[in-house]
Order: sequence, then C-alpha cells, then structure tokens
Amino acid sequence: MSSVTLKKVSKRFTNAETDAVDQVDLEINNKEFLVILGPSGSGKSSLLRLIAGLEETTGGEVYFGNELVNDVSPRERNISMVFQNFALFPNMSVYDNIAFPIRASGQDSENLDDEVKRIASMLQIESLLDRKPGELSGGEQQRVSLGRAIIKKPKIFLMDEPLSNLDASLRAELRAEIKKLHKELGITFIYVTHDQTEAMSMADRIALIKDGKLLQVDKPEVIYNTPNHSWIGSFLGMPAMNLANSSDLGDSISAKKGASVIGIRPENITVSSEKSKLTGSVISIEYLGDSQILNVKVGKSVMKVKVPNDSKYSVGADVNLDFSDDSLRFFSDDGKYVK
Ligand code: ADP
Repeated sequence: MSSVTLKKVSKRFTNAETDAVDQVDLEINNKEFLVILGPSGSGKSSLLRLIAGLEETTGGEVYFGNELVNDVSPRERNISMVFQNFALFPNMSVYDNIAFPIRASGQDSENLDDEVKRIASMLQIESLLDRKPGELSGGEQQRVSLGRAIIKKPKIFLMDEPLSNLDASLRAELRAEIKKLHKELGITFIYVTHDQTEAMSMADRIALIKDGKLLQVDKPEVIYNTPNHSWIGSFLGMPAMNLANSSDLGDSISAKKGASVIGIRPENITVSSEKSKLTGSVISIEYLGDSQILNVKVGKSVMKVKVPNDSKYSVGADVNLDFSDDSLRFFSDDGKYVK
C-alpha cells in the first residue's frame, strides 16, 4: 500500500518564529496524483521533504500505508525524488546516469541494460544514451532525471517543481508526459508546484497550502469553482476571481447572511445591452489574444470581465454587467466561505 497519511505534521526550523509547516492533516491515496500548490515560501518543499524523510518533523506523524515512518530513513522509504535542478552526473553518459541508482545499490543484473533502454524509450531519449548531460537541452536533462528516478521502481514518486527551469512549450509537453508516466507506472505521485496550470492540468486532487497551513484539498474543478476561502479565489484563475465588498454592489445582489465579500469569476460575467444587475464604466482593456479583459469600475470596486477577443469596447464606455446568481460565491470578513 502506497498511501501516505499526515497527522498534524509540523516543521519549525531552528531559530524560526513560525512553523514552515503548520499542523497539516492530509491523506494521499494509493496511486493518486496529488499536487501540493501554493505561493513561494508557503511550505510546499518543506512538506515534501518531510514526506521524503529529508527533514525531521517537529510535530505530528507521517504514515506510509499503516506504517509510522517518522524514524525511517529516506533510503528505506521506497521513494524517488526529482528536483527543479536536474542534478545529473556531468561526467557520466545518459545511460550511466539512468543506470546509476541500480549500480550504486549493488543490484546490478543482466536485466539492467534492458531496463535502461525500456525507460529511455518510455521517455523518448533512446537516441541520447551516449551523450553527456552537458550536450542535452533542459527538457532532455529533466527526462534523464525522471528516468533515473523511475529505475528504482519506487512506490512513491516525489517531484519538487521539476518543470520550473524549462521554457513554456517544453513545460506544456512535459506536463502531458508526466501525466502519462503516472498512468503507466501506476504509483503514487506527489508533486509540488507554484504554477496553477500545472496543478489544474495534472492533479487528481490539489492540496492548497498557504503560510504552512493546508487550506483545501479537493479535485481541481471543486477548488476552482468552490474555493473554501476568498484567498484561494484570488490565487486561482487567470485573471483571478473578482472579490467585491457586498456594499459596493448595491441592492441588485442579495448577499447571504454573514457574507461581506462577494466573489465572481471574470468568465462568469457577461456584458449586456439591456439594463442588468450592475452598471459600471470601462477603465482599461487588456488584450490576451484568445480573449479580452475589461476592467470595469463598479462603485468602489474594479471588476474584471472576460469578453470575446473580437469585442469592441472602448475605455470610458458605460456597460451593463450580467451574471447568473449561481456563479456568485460568498465569503465572510475573515475570508471563510459562506454556504
Ligand atoms: P515553498 O516550497 O512553498 O517555496 P519552503 O518549504 O521552501 O516553501 O519554505 C517555507 C518556509 O520555511 C520559508 O519561510 C523558508 O524561508 C523556510 N525554510 C525553508 N527551508 C529552511 C531551512 N533549511 N532553514 C530555515 N528556514 C527554512
């Protein structure tokens, strides 16, 4: 069983005044692709390193299956890890880099050659086996790191921002490859990123972390559509969810009891030619290629509205904004979701 259970797991670094990881409770299912998502400094890497055993917890328990592993060394946890900086051996060929973990553990056998070639073919780097890392592109180097991690046949695969050093088109390509790899290997993947596109496109579930605290764990569409905190609404989405004070929006919207902040996503607002729920004036327009974003001043709030790329609006124009009541989300003063 390669499930992972965290019970009130905390980490406070020496001399730090707050916990980098703060009482995290999380169950990661066997064979799941779980993405830990959060801004820089939120504690994602620390959490992953606690799971790997590279850091010691200062509180709480880590279980692999039913086994408490707090005192089990990283080597004995049956995991593989891939990092942002590829960390390959520069003087070894691609072949030798991939074969290294097996040779180093003394499990070298006659199957090794087949195994290296099988993995190289899975990662589409068969033709590069004789090269040195310095003769490879960033994307190719990261494929080699993946190969070196896979050959150990880990039960759990941990990845820490593995695509951050790659350019956009390579990132998109490797996102799809990693997702495919997860299916083929049939093992648990735990993947750390600050990139919402990576999280949304790859995760079975996303664990959202901020200031060391776990805010929400759920399927990407659930987190996107029903964030349990206004901060998550404003973190996810391009552009993010509009958050307005209910008093700014006037009487057209009946806010729920206890809700002082109203959230609505830019793609859920339409511009209407008829009198509608809100009126405002366009203060600026961002052209995004596939769409345009209108910044519309409504009361004291500025709402972002996503409109088709061929729309013709001009700065200064008054517009009527419409939306379905179902797309409104309500939050209390302290950001909590109000049902
Ligand atoms: P993220 O991966 O989300 O960027 P980290 O887990 O790297 O966040 O860091 C979380 C917090 O812990 C940050 O405030 C960081 O400065 C601190 N931190 C991380 N590693 C150490 C360390 N080895 N010693 C002291 N503080 C650390």
